[in-house]
Amino acid sequence: MSDNDCLFCKMVSGDISPDIVYENDHVLAFRDINPRAPVHVLVIPKNHVPTLADLDNPEIAAQCLLAAKTVAELEGLSENGYRTVINCKQWGGQEVYHLHLHVLGGRAMTWPPG
Ligand code: 5GP
Ligand code: ZN
Repeated sequence: MSDNDCLFCKMVSGDISPDIVYENDHVLAFRDINPRAPVHVLVIPKNHVPTLADLDNPEIAAQCLLAAKTVAELEGLSENGYRTVINCKQWGGQEVYHLHLHVLGGRAMTWPPG
């Protein structure tokens, strides 16, 4: 459920206090410390799941996706649109091994990503 050495688990437990944008029983959403866009929010499940490759609970998957949509609405991104990203493991560029979904917005995004 929780990993004592995990940065994002410490945010769920309250040991570290992020800038929270949205929270419910299943997920926490907070501002990225190093924003890559005018709006950059991370959505995490409250249970410790290291990577997308480890995810096997459809309820957690749905809760994260729906929370991303809610964050976009709260941040005023829904009309113009936004980017969601899940980096998975080394080649995906994942740095924190607690599953998280990036919600990026407030400017036009480019494609393809690097
Ligand atoms: P990843 O590269 O794993 O997909 O994304 C990890 C994200 O976590 C990065 O965008 C990074 O800026 C963010 N991050 C790392 N440490 C902290 C922290 O202590 N607080 C917050 N709010 N974000 C963090
Ligand atoms: Zn964790």
